[in-house]
Amino acid sequence: MATTFPAVDPATREPFAENVEMGPEQVGAVVVAARDAFRSSHDWRFPVNRAAALSRLARLVERDGEELAQLECRDTGKPLAQARADVAVTVRYLEFYAGACDKLEGRSIPLGPDVVDYTLREPWGVCGQIIPWNYPLQMITRVAAPALAGGNAVVVKPSELASQTPLRWAALAIEAGIPEGLVGIVTGRGATGAALVAHPDVAHVTFVGSAATGTTVAHACADRLVPVELELGGKSPNVVFADADLDRVVPAVVRALIQNAGQSCSAGSRLLVDRTIHDEVVERVGEALDGLRIGPGSEDPDLGPVVAQQQLDRALTMLATARGDGATVMRGGGRPTGLEDGWYVEPTLVTGVTPAMELFREEVFGPVLAATSFDDDEQAIELANDSPYGLVAGVWTRDLSRALRVAGALQVGQVFVNGYGVAGGVEIPFGGMKRSGYGRGKGMDAMLAYTQVKNVCVAL
Ligand code: NAD
Repeated sequence: MATTFPAVDPATREPFAENVEMGPEQVGAVVVAARDAFRSSHDWRFPVNRAAALSRLARLVERDGEELAQLECRDTGKPLAQARADVAVTVRYLEFYAGACDKLEGRSIPLGPDVVDYTLREPWGVCGQIIPWNYPLQMITRVAAPALAGGNAVVVKPSELASQTPLRWAALAIEAGIPEGLVGIVTGRGATGAALVAHPDVAHVTFVGSAATGTTVAHACADRLVPVELELGGKSPNVVFADADLDRVVPAVVRALIQNAGQSCSAGSRLLVDRTIHDEVVERVGEALDGLRIGPGSEDPDLGPVVAQQQLDRALTMLATARGDGATVMRGGGRPTGLEDGWYVEPTLVTGVTPAMELFREEVFGPVLAATSFDDDEQAIELANDSPYGLVAGVWTRDLSRALRVAGALQVGQVFVNGYGVAGGVEIPFGGMKRSGYGRGKGMDAMLAYTQVKNVCVAL
């Protein structure tokens, strides 16, 4: 009999569904089905067919949007409005990659009258894709849609903490006419992911998750010499200069922190502020945190629970360490009263956080903001870069030269000037430097990652 594990509602800690814990044999069967579908599906080799199927999938996600949002809210704990926004972003990914299917052009390389040389972009075959629990619906789309658009088959392993919407997505993919087998889902814990990475028919791996697991996955890929995209964690700063428009800064800093209860790889979890405006910014951010509504995702608050007991424990332990290190907890710092049934963390603002402290360097993955002051541009850049991670940064200034100089000096994969996370992000390359990983997802860069170049050289 197959082993199962429950899907649990983070707002109540009540189980509401069962997932199958798939072992290596079951994973192998899904991968082989994907390989066979990839080899045998003639239709899938035509970009126009892939575009049509992804467009149909977009319409089906729209059709079932409210149901998917409710399911996402229940499985992850996120506020309903955020789950609905995730559905909208999912549709946008599908539309973008439907449109990109026939834009993957090769090059013609001039070598003289006796030779014709050209390049083709070809799919890898079966792409194994391992994703975390924080944005399961968006995330399966972000990795699978460009891979499918590039002509690949995909086998996706969602997180054991949030598998429900990826399972629904795969069912909708079949309804959309994506050939059976071409989209596989394997459910389970880490061992299931390891079996996927180790399977000899998996030709390309994408891993989205923590740096620690990413390291293990990268080793496994190196053993088999398969390419891997690593989209890992972050400790992303919002850098606020004295000339910034604080009416824009404060709400953006709060949003960058509390989105998904702080459980975003790109969470703006560090606040670096010019010393001359530090107290004012901290006071205004603190007031904004005071006004947040906390509660179950289904009641559509500003802030829902974190996903599981281990996330709650992690946040509280890191806060205890920060206090012991001498930082000051200005707001929050514990569990909100009256919500003991769920895994809730108060929105928290910690000041006086120095580079030597764990809170400055490590991801909490909860709604905890670490504030530090700086004296000049050089120190701001030094502090922003003084991190093992390099995913995203926000730069806030009215001085264009300063903004561009600082953006150029930051060791991160994505810089936002005067608007953290603006524009949704579907079309723009996303990925990290340093321990935030390598490779780029989203936009056309993902299409390049999910195809390989073949050069054809013809002597006339
Ligand atoms: P995690 O590393 O614990 O797990 C990620 C996935 O890997 C899960 O599906 C898990 O089951 C699987 N896994 C665990 N052990 C494995 C193994 N040995 N081999 C193969 N797969 C294995 O991460 P998480 O806690 O689910 O997610 C949170 C992390 O994800 C944070 O660090 C966050 O910053 C990061 N994240 C990054 C991005 C990005 O795009 N850069 C996006 C979202 C989340």
